[in-house]
Amino acid sequence: MIQRPRGTRDFLPDEMERRRHYESLLRETAQLYGFREVATPMFENTELFTTKSGPNIVDEIYSFQDKGGREISLRPELTAPVMRMFVNELSNAPRPLKLFYFGQCFRYERPQSGRYREFFQFGAEIIGAPTAETDAEAIALAEAMIKRLGLKNYVLRVGHIGILREKLSGLGVPQEGMAELLQKLDKKLYDEARSLMEAYDVSSEGINAVFEFTALSGGKDLLSRIEGEAGAYLRELFSILELYGVEAVQLDLGTVRGLDYYTGVVFEVEAPSLGAEKQVCGGGSYTLSELLGGESVFSTGFAIGFDRILLALEKEGANFSPQGLDAYVLATANETRPDSFRIVTMLRKAGLRADVDLMRRKLSKAMKQAAASRARYAVIVGARDLAENAGTVREMSSGEQRRVSLDELVSYLSA
Ligand code: ATP
Ligand code: MG
Repeated sequence: MIQRPRGTRDFLPDEMERRRHYESLLRETAQLYGFREVATPMFENTELFTTKSGPNIVDEIYSFQDKGGREISLRPELTAPVMRMFVNELSNAPRPLKLFYFGQCFRYERPQSGRYREFFQFGAEIIGAPTAETDAEAIALAEAMIKRLGLKNYVLRVGHIGILREKLSGLGVPQEGMAELLQKLDKKLYDEARSLMEAYDVSSEGINAVFEFTALSGGKDLLSRIEGEAGAYLRELFSILELYGVEAVQLDLGTVRGLDYYTGVVFEVEAPSLGAEKQVCGGGSYTLSELLGGESVFSTGFAIGFDRILLALEKEGANFSPQGLDAYVLATANETRPDSFRIVTMLRKAGLRADVDLMRRKLSKAMKQAAASRARYAVIVGARDLAENAGTVREMSSGEQRRVSLDELVSYLSA
């Protein structure tokens, strides 16, 4: 037997139906907020990702040379591809551009619960102006999506990475060392962050001040303690979020996103029920388009880890039952089989989910198949029924049977 590659999954019909259901809730919500869907290729020129995240990213993604000798990578995320698309195709479009996407991403990571080599992100980006309402709109959509899925237990934390960047550069951390240090702080690897700062001659008071700053988290009351432009921006953001009805939001200045291109507001959503891999959404504002050869433009966005948020819903006991068929049509004998095809076709044309026995089973076995397909009704096609232009309809849950005229069958089954 050939196994599927490590870190990948197969989705069987029940699971796929569940995934499509939740996906459609997300899509619906994004559309309610005025976002429009886009799609980009599953693979890109590797340069797109190294430009954004540095050459080391290649160790973490699926990169290869194609037969023409081009350096190609499977996309590890969709923000860079969407911004590339913006620069290539949409740079003259009216703003703000409000885009969303759903698709698979690939990362060469150690697989574990909630961490796969192929996984799905549902994300959104706004390309517009650096106003607090733009960031608020992105955060409000992220929260609305999470609520729409029905997740109850989650924590939404908002911070501002600009303040930390400024603090670090004021302490003497050079621009080229910033990304690595922020990555350590993001992963809460404080010992490693300390040695990096020591190497840049940051004093121990300075280092402690950085750690204290990243530990600053709590309710809105903390807002008044943040100085400067960033403080004013955050205060404005939080007051707009309130108008948007986003209430359960925490201010957390330790919200550090590892990636280099985040510049201002950053936010994360965690589902505590997930344990170690609990981050279900990450986002913030960034400057990426000029790196990709476009003009400098303010953008903000987020990505929901679709697989992880489904795991969190499962942990909370959210149950989803597959829809099943409206009707399963079965013939009592070979002579009535042709009529079963005629009848199932009539039901399908009327928009009912209907199936028919393809295995030439005996009635009792075919009835078992009808139950396994979770059909609401079985339509039994027998010679005596047909003589009266009728079929026998069995309600599967109660076992009740009655003869229904074929002319009334559709309306009877639709009721
Ligand atoms: P982490 O810190 O957990 O590695 P990240 O910060 O790299 O995640 P992002 O690039 O912001 O994650 O991706 C957005 C979301 O995608 C994450 O919050 C997470 O829910 C999900 N995600 C990231 N990597 C994986 C993966 N390998 N498998 C499943 N989901 C993932
Ligand atoms: Mg992270």
